[in-house]
Amino acid sequence: MTLSNHRLEQLEKAFSGLKQEFAKRNPLSLKASQEAARALPGGNTRSVLFYEPFPLTMVSGQGAEVRDLDGHTYIDFVGEFSAGLYGHSDPIIKQAIIEALECGIVLAAPNVLEARLAEAVQARFPSMERLRFCNSGTEANILALVTARQVTGRSKILVFDGAYHGGVLVFSKGGNPINIPFDYVIAPYNDYEATRSLIQAHKDDLACVIVEPILGAAGNIPAERSFLEMLREETAKVGALLIFDEVKTSRCGAGGIQGQIGLTPDLTTLGKYLGGGLSSGAFGGRADIMDRFDPHRPDAFRHAGTFNNNVCSMAAGLAGLTRVFTPERADAFLVECEAFRVRLNDEMVARKVPLRFTGQGSLFTMHLSPNGIRTAADVTPTSRRVGQFFHMYALLNGVAIASRGDFYQSLPMTDAHRQTLRNVLVSFVDEYAELLKALVDQEIRAAA
Ligand code: PMP
Repeated sequence: MTLSNHRLEQLEKAFSGLKQEFAKRNPLSLKASQEAARALPGGNTRSVLFYEPFPLTMVSGQGAEVRDLDGHTYIDFVGEFSAGLYGHSDPIIKQAIIEALECGIVLAAPNVLEARLAEAVQARFPSMERLRFCNSGTEANILALVTARQVTGRSKILVFDGAYHGGVLVFSKGGNPINIPFDYVIAPYNDYEATRSLIQAHKDDLACVIVEPILGAAGNIPAERSFLEMLREETAKVGALLIFDEVKTSRCGAGGIQGQIGLTPDLTTLGKYLGGGLSSGAFGGRADIMDRFDPHRPDAFRHAGTFNNNVCSMAAGLAGLTRVFTPERADAFLVECEAFRVRLNDEMVARKVPLRFTGQGSLFTMHLSPNGIRTAADVTPTSRRVGQFFHMYALLNGVAIASRGDFYQSLPMTDAHRQTLRNVLVSFVDEYAELLKALVDQEIRAAA
């Protein structure tokens, strides 16, 4: 047996021990997932929520904590993959939804909430000179892409390896057979030369470049500011649109990453927390592009959608953006969350443990790597496995994180919640530091 197999087997053995313990502790979740499988394939309707041996079924949430069917309580660092910004019981959000419900929920007409929410979004993201609502981040991206293709009269879409723009726009881990069959050009993230030459090579057919300012599903890998600036310059030169998918990153400060770096994309997409925790999405940008949706025009693009302006999402989103996640709160939240992420990294460095937390502020991912992660290809299968291993370890210690090793902080989170996660992490590295170091040493040797 090679050293490498020996170490990986050690990891798998420890992992399966944790999974057995997990199964023993959660009989009701197991039963629920078996029953769900009678109607839902594998008992699942959201692929991202599945993990082995079976996912926990949650029954309730309060503040920044959730409770499962078997009665365990967890600090919620899954944070609904960033949509759970407000936590589970924000009184202002709840009240807004109740008021909306009391006024009738299917009015089939414009309501006053949608225009006010649109203005609130516009004030936060001035690049969104006009916008439209839809039901999800996936929908927002699909609409931005088809709009870009139509207004440019071109067909190709440049995306980044490792990107996730929705259930049918997956470019991580080999993509997805049910992706929308657009004509994609796939570029490596943060790779200036390769990306620039792909833009040049396809310049006559390129409708747009779509980019997440932090590559989320691949492990919350931030784009370098100058990389995003390069995309702005190069797309402008060839007449392709630049689309910022800020579905997740729009919560990084008052105006998202575009606000932080002062960059104006042609189109932006939003979702996740936008509806206050209810389903919602938005796409918008340059007025000359978005005004093509103006129904007064004889040649208007049509974009219907029964629930685009549903009153509950509009009310919750408006209350959230204007009364809870105000610009001041958003900036302060970024600072507080970023300090925690930096602290976790500092502790790993001090303990000489090869784990790093990439991302920004409230969005971050654990990687097995002593160095930086710059692009999706830097994330090794072993690193992903260690993230899953820690997920199981954390669950057994009362902390829920996303099963792929992502963490999302929420507004009701306290220092005590963060300290608990930090303590669980420290006990994990106390137990497994030697194994983690050996795994990294092997990867470095294998790559050399
Ligand atoms: N874009 C990004 C960057 C995302 O992270 C997600 C969801 N994880 C989406 C788009 C799709 O959003 P939704 O799940 O609301 O369709």
